[in-house]
Formats: sequence, structure tokens, C-alpha cells
Amino acid sequence: MPSHNLAYIKIDELEIIGYSVAAEETVVAMPQLDVCFDIGKAPNQVIPINNILLTHGHMDHAAGIAYYLSHRNFCGQSPGTILAPENLLGPIREVIDAWSRLDGNRIPANLVGVKAGDEYQIKPNLFARVFPTKHSKGSVGYSVIEKRKKIKPEYARLTGPQIVELKKQGVEIDYPLEIPIVTYLGDTQFVDFSQLKYIVESKILIAECTFYEGEHAGRAEAGRHMHISEFAELIEKLQNEHVIITHTTQRTPMREIRRILKEALPPEKYDRIILLMDKRWK
Ligand SMILES: [Zn+2]
Ligand SMILES: [Zn+2]
Repeated sequence: MPSHNLAYIKIDELEIIGYSVAAEETVVAMPQLDVCFDIGKAPNQVIPINNILLTHGHMDHAAGIAYYLSHRNFCGQSPGTILAPENLLGPIREVIDAWSRLDGNRIPANLVGVKAGDEYQIKPNLFARVFPTKHSKGSVGYSVIEKRKKIKPEYARLTGPQIVELKKQGVEIDYPLEIPIVTYLGDTQFVDFSQLKYIVESKILIAECTFYEGEHAGRAEAGRHMHISEFAELIEKLQNEHVIITHTTQRTPMREIRRILKEALPPEKYDRIILLMDKRWK
């Protein structure tokens, strides 16, 4: 039986499972990509996933780290990999060491410090690219990008032997192609992410939009989160086929959030929206 009742979304062959409520807990996993964005708690559904991509150190996003690592060890799995902003590696190590002493068992971990612009290989053709966000010191977001080689159009009609011959001659017959599959913003206030082409073109965008009511604009500003007015501006500039909203406040009922979203977004954008926390019990 699963330890947590998580939201479940399926887009083509990709599953997204998670839970995300502002200040309470955020964990968003994509098992087929072998990544879990943030780990506020450690539901047992995410334990087998090998890569945790941490955006920042707030408790509601990071408290599950030690349990995740320890439980993998307990189940005989390889040490989990935690990607985290490099300024957080020291404190993360201290937390893991403290838990090792408390628990009486050493907790193995593969910790990788990242900064904006870095890339980390998840699978032979799959990479996590790191970009900066505006939330806390060193906070980052991640895009998961598939890299393929595509044959140049002028060689597309050649036969197998002809291609082999050209390769022998050292002719470059293909070119690198990047397919951004998903971008996860984590917690952030408005940033013009349309400056980054791989974010604009990500098939799936997982974005925080914490606050909706007019009187909550100040709260968004103070906590460095997005308010619907900024989110609408951001989405306008992006081309993502699917937009999953996370980190919704508990101050506004889900039905009201949906109503405000419908009012704030043009229909062609609203149609692409999935509210993560509306997808529970399915
Ligand atoms: Zn948060
Ligand atoms: Zn935060």
C-alpha cells in the first residue's frame, strides 16, 4: 500500500506523481525519467527513483532527503543521488551525518553540487540542465533534456551503405538535437524565463503559482513566490504544451483557484493547465 496519497497525471507515456502545497510539502516525481524534483517528505513511491533534483533548502522541499537516502540503504538499493545548489552541500552533509549518528547506521549518499548553467547526465541520452531562479540564496530550477543525433536533411535519402561510406570519409552526416521534455521551476518569483529557449520549448512546464487573490500579492512578494498576475505574464511568453501548477496556497479553495485561473488566462493557455492538487484520488 502506498505511504502517501499522491496526485497522478499521465501525459503520453510520462507519469507525474506528487504532492505540492505551499509551506507544507512539495515532491514531484517523474519515474520514467528517473527524477524527483524536491523531496519535502519521502513517500515510498519515490524511493526507487535514483535522482533527486533539489531546488532549494526550505524544509517543505528538503525534509525528506535523509529518509529517502536511509530507506534506499535499508532496501538494499544503490545510494541515491541528490543534486542541490552547491551552497547547500555543507548543511545537507551535516543533516545526513546527524541522522546517521541518531539512527546508528551510516547513510550512504551521492551528493552533487550544482549551479546555473551546469548539466548532469541522468541516462546516456538524458540530461538535467540547471538554471537560476529568484527565491533563496543559490536557488535553481531544472530542465530535463533528451539529446539525440538527427541526420542532416541532405543525407536523409541515402542508403545504409552510402551512409557508412560517408562516415568512413569523416563526413558529419548528423547534427545534435535537443528535446526539452520537462522544466521544473521550483519556488520562484517572476523571472522572464522566455530568455531560455529550452524552457520556452519544454513539452511540460511544472511551475509554482502560489497566490491568486488580489490581497495576496504582498504575500507573494514577501515570500518570493508567484502571484497569478505574474504567472499569467510568464505563461503568455512560453510555448509549453502542458503546464502543471504546483505549490498552491491553502488560503484559497481549489475551486476558487480554478475560477481565477480561467478568468486570468486566455482560453488557449487555460486549456493547457493542470492543477497538480486537483488530480488526487485518480
Ligand atoms: Zn515552498
Ligand atoms: Zn521555498
